[in-house]
Amino acid sequence: MTEHTATTSVVVIGGGYAGTMAANHLLVRPEIDVTLVNPRPAFVERIRLHQLVAGTGQGVADYGELLNPHIHLTVDEATRIDAATRTVQLASGGALQYDYLIYAVGSAAAAPDVPGAEFAFPIAEFEHATRLRERLGSLHPAAPVCVVGGGLTGIETAAELAHERASVTLIAGPVLGPSLSRAGRRSVTRQLTRLGVDVIAGCFVTEVRGDAVVLSDGRVLASAATIWTAGFRVPPLAARSGLATDELGCLLTDETLTSVDDARIVAAGDAASPSGQPLRMSCQAAIPLGAQAANTVLSRIVGEQPAVINQAFVGQCVSLGRSLGTVQLSRTDDTPIGLYIGGRTAAAIKEFVCKGTVWGIAREGRKPGSAFWVRGGNRQQRLRESVTVP
Ligand SMILES: Cc1cc2nc3c(=O)[nH]c(=O)nc-3n(C[C@H](O)[C@H](O)[C@H](O)COP(=O)(O)OP(=O)(O)OC[C@H]3O[C@@H](n4cnc5c(N)ncnc54)[C@H](O)[C@@H]3O)c2cc1C
Repeated sequence: MTEHTATTSVVVIGGGYAGTMAANHLLVRPEIDVTLVNPRPAFVERIRLHQLVAGTGQGVADYGELLNPHIHLTVDEATRIDAATRTVQLASGGALQYDYLIYAVGSAAAAPDVPGAEFAFPIAEFEHATRLRERLGSLHPAAPVCVVGGGLTGIETAAELAHERASVTLIAGPVLGPSLSRAGRRSVTRQLTRLGVDVIAGCFVTEVRGDAVVLSDGRVLASAATIWTAGFRVPPLAARSGLATDELGCLLTDETLTSVDDARIVAAGDAASPSGQPLRMSCQAAIPLGAQAANTVLSRIVGEQPAVINQAFVGQCVSLGRSLGTVQLSRTDDTPIGLYIGGRTAAAIKEFVCKGTVWGIAREGRKPGSAFWVRGGNRQQRLRESVTVP
């Protein structure tokens, strides 16, 4: 075992759920020098961005309340990782040296792949949500709004907007809520109907216009603002830096979250692809993966073999406005079961979970090592047949 020195420096790229948790958790060894790089001076609560759009939430939290005071926050964007010299280049022109790097750049909205993409409003990033909020604020409350994408983000966005807008249509694609069980899907559909959302499933949007959307069955729906929630992408930083990625561009790692190219680079959150089989993009996975990425670095610093990840999911919490919701229960491998909790109880659980994310990160900041996360998933068992697990 090699004892680490006081000068060990770790750079964390990305101050989202995974990156902030990782940075805080590293300070179980207070002598480690931790720098967090993020393009904004505030933490973005992406799971509340649909609330920012609807005016029912802020979508941001203060890093001062989340991060351990010993973490250096660098407000900048990483433009390149040079693994050979252990350097991160920054958009401002500066550079950071590291002994270990945690790659936690998260995900972003995928551009619509239909004509008229420039008329669509994405929601997945803070700047998108702010722009969309301004657009909706300029519209009459009765002006029709279409939400494209029947995944959880589309469902939550349509429901949240239905409180303040008279005409909200959700164009779901082939099926509404494909990640839900049939029972969970029925629960969501019932509550969307109760909120007055028109749900169209079984067809696609083939074109976006400034004032309408065109559907694959030929219909043209009036739409003063078309919100695009279909599809996520990841930032191209890893690929641009010559590091191995999966098809989407997530950093390819082993089951300890270590880059397959470089033992000094560890990934977490939406931008990590362990064994080329990434977990569902979610803060539910990002926060424990952040802690596990920090643990991998801590193990490597002292020359120990890092543990493999063993993520367990518990379900999918879907808010449907401020007073309704559906909590879809799942097996630990994230497959949904036929059980769900609906209505006001589910709304309360979802709000508890949302508050719990920032509360848990802040607690880890105050007291590194206090984080707990659900363990005991059967990922290793599932992977054993298909990939080599170190
Ligand atoms: C509207 C909406 C609702 C959602 N609801 C839920 C939910 O209910 N439950 C759930 O589990 N998940 C939900 N998600 C998904 C969840 O938000 C993401 O999976 C989660 O944010 C991933 O965490 P992360 O830390 O990997 O990335 P992020 O939270 O995206 O953080 C990444 C950070 O890295 C920064 N970054 C990117 N590139 C660079 C760079 N080059 N240099 C420096 N910094 C960089 C980004 O700006 C960002 O601050 C929702 C997403 C959206 C959009």
